[in-house]
Amino acid sequence: MTVQYDFANHPVSEIFASNCFNETAMKKLLPIDIYNELQDIQHGDKDLTPAVAEAVASAMKQWALEKGATHYTHWFQPLTGSTAEKHDSFLSIGKNGKVVMDFSGKELLQGEPDASSFPNGGLRATFEARGYTAWDTSSPAFIKETEGVKTLYIPTAFFSYNGQALDKKVPLLRSCDAIERQALRVLRALGHTTTRHITVSVGPEQEYFLVDREYYEKRIDLRLTGRTVFGNLAAKGQELDDHYFGSISDRVTVFMNELNYELWKVGIPSKTQHKEVAPGQFEVAAIFDVANVSTDQNQLLMRILKSVARRHDMKALLHEKPFAGVNGSGKHNNWSIATDDGQNLLSPGDSPEDNLLFLLVLTCLIKAVDIYAPLIRASAATAGNDHRLGQNEAPPAIISMYLGEQLTEILEHLTTNTPYKKRNGEILKVGVNALPGLPKDMTDRNRTSPFAFTGNKFEFRMVGSSQSLAGPNTMLNAAVADIFAEVADRLESATDPKAESITLIKEFYRNHKRIVFNGNGYSKQWVDEAQRRGLPNIPNTVAALQQLVVPEHVEMLERHCIFSKEELESRLEVYLEIYSKQVNIEAGVMVEMARRSIVPAVTRYLSELCDDMKVQKQVGFATEELEKIAGLLSRELNETIKTGELLHITLAQALAMTDDTLSQAKFYHEEVTERMADLRSHVDMLETYTDKQAWPFPGYEELLFRL
Ligand code: ADP
Ligand code: MG
Repeated sequence: MTVQYDFANHPVSEIFASNCFNETAMKKLLPIDIYNELQDIQHGDKDLTPAVAEAVASAMKQWALEKGATHYTHWFQPLTGSTAEKHDSFLSIGKNGKVVMDFSGKELLQGEPDASSFPNGGLRATFEARGYTAWDTSSPAFIKETEGVKTLYIPTAFFSYNGQALDKKVPLLRSCDAIERQALRVLRALGHTTTRHITVSVGPEQEYFLVDREYYEKRIDLRLTGRTVFGNLAAKGQELDDHYFGSISDRVTVFMNELNYELWKVGIPSKTQHKEVAPGQFEVAAIFDVANVSTDQNQLLMRILKSVARRHDMKALLHEKPFAGVNGSGKHNNWSIATDDGQNLLSPGDSPEDNLLFLLVLTCLIKAVDIYAPLIRASAATAGNDHRLGQNEAPPAIISMYLGEQLTEILEHLTTNTPYKKRNGEILKVGVNALPGLPKDMTDRNRTSPFAFTGNKFEFRMVGSSQSLAGPNTMLNAAVADIFAEVADRLESATDPKAESITLIKEFYRNHKRIVFNGNGYSKQWVDEAQRRGLPNIPNTVAALQQLVVPEHVEMLERHCIFSKEELESRLEVYLEIYSKQVNIEAGVMVEMARRSIVPAVTRYLSELCDDMKVQKQVGFATEELEKIAGLLSRELNETIKTGELLHITLAQALAMTDDTLSQAKFYHEEVTERMADLRSHVDMLETYTDKQAWPFPGYEELLFRL
């Protein structure tokens, strides 16, 4: 175990983004007029021309060849949630028969991967199976190195012949446009004239587990589903809370050193790393960037995480709940909106004007999250996340918003005219021209809220650890864009926009404050309280996904040109199918493990036990306790066989339901998962009473405490 990357000899400043065709590289390698034009194109101020594409392709190829790449790929994000790629070499045969390395503007701009195998939910008619990929100018290309093999990756959008989005990037980009459009209207109406662009910033914190590869390989469930479908908590779980920010073992330290090296090289600004709450669980967070770039980088980060772990004889688990009884893994999506003149609209400012804007944006978010909570919930709905939400230290499936005491008091004061005492005892006065001077740091900490204000950003914590950030950010952006549009309409027709914004702040907060909850989101009381407040509690994926096609949601998303009705219907179809398939695989693995490994192993152990007891009885050994255990084991063994067969039959029923995706997914959720839980309870009981040597799989102790 030696550290490979000595940053004294390889300064980070030299390594960082050395494999990334970012702004710095382009500035160096492109003619200045092309570089400037590309900047305008990236900001959406100009359309991409063939001349620019040609010049960029040429520079990009030269850069990639010098790095040692032979192939390039358009890199896209189909609805599976992972990424897809098809590699082409730069090679072509020149007129004289000689090999030349070529890459045209046309090849940079567009690819035509055969897309018939990607899920599309009926969007692409079979006669037009082709999908198109188009260069995303706003996300930098990079070179991915695998054991010295270098390939140029070009982030692209993926769509059908008639322009329908077949991926997660296109709707995300559309949602960024929508929020920019509406936020600019709000700013203009309030007299801000200098801002030209608005961007959404996203900073992801990625949680993951590491397990030793040797134990991982012995668990068919981990290999095929990413989680343990059976297993009991080891004698030590996370009850001592000694893992959060705990010391990082030598082996993991060395792994993290290489992880950082690989991330930095492709320009991912990995910043923070620490031990997480569960044993074997860790977090890595990169510095925030614009939503689209952050989303791409997080997809890449997940891949790099896995490949570096493999090199260290470990497996990185990104499943939302790999182990029952300890924390699952999420992805905290830190979200804010900024202007190109450097203002974070979620940052309280120094002047009353700044604060007016801050409070207006804040109350827009309150309204957006209250009204579109079901859509936002749907954006975090996956089979994996169903196990996590509402379980150990994870936000429940209820969307609420944490503002902190101080900010809540200020809003209460504004709307109800109750006196507000500043922390220094001074009483605030509020009127049109006297908004409160807001305290700079209002970051109380609350880790139990799915949507927490943390000083100058919101942290959406519901996202699952393996998910793409595109979906959640698309829905957040859409929801906020919609409320901004309403505000812009009101401000544009108001005689006194400033006074109107104060009216809006009060109105929005008064009407939507039910979403604000500063207490413990993990408590049972909150579930009851939320119900009293009328907040939706959508506990499972199948129910949540159906929110995608609720008419009000479709209408809103169409209005802002983020999704068409067909695109939403296709997503519902695809995501339900993915849900059913995942449950199907997990259930199949359970049946297989129970039938072919666990039942035979316990049967053997039981007969050994009985043989032993016979001998023991002959020599007069008291065997009552052993008899009890043998009795219990044989009862559980019978139940295991019975529930296993029942699960198998239920699974066959589910598989036969092919003509209606929704009914099938419902059946998986209602019937199959219940049988799975049944089977698990019996198997887990068997594990507790079976000789460790006889148990056919490594247990939680090996998986969680050996790094
Ligand atoms: P904590 O664990 O306290 O929430 P971390 O430092 O682990 O904080 O992660 C915070 C994340 O939020 C980082 O990715 C950081 O870059 C990001 N972030 C900071 N400021 C903003 C902002 N204005 N908008 C979006 N993300 C931000
Ligand atoms: Mg955090």
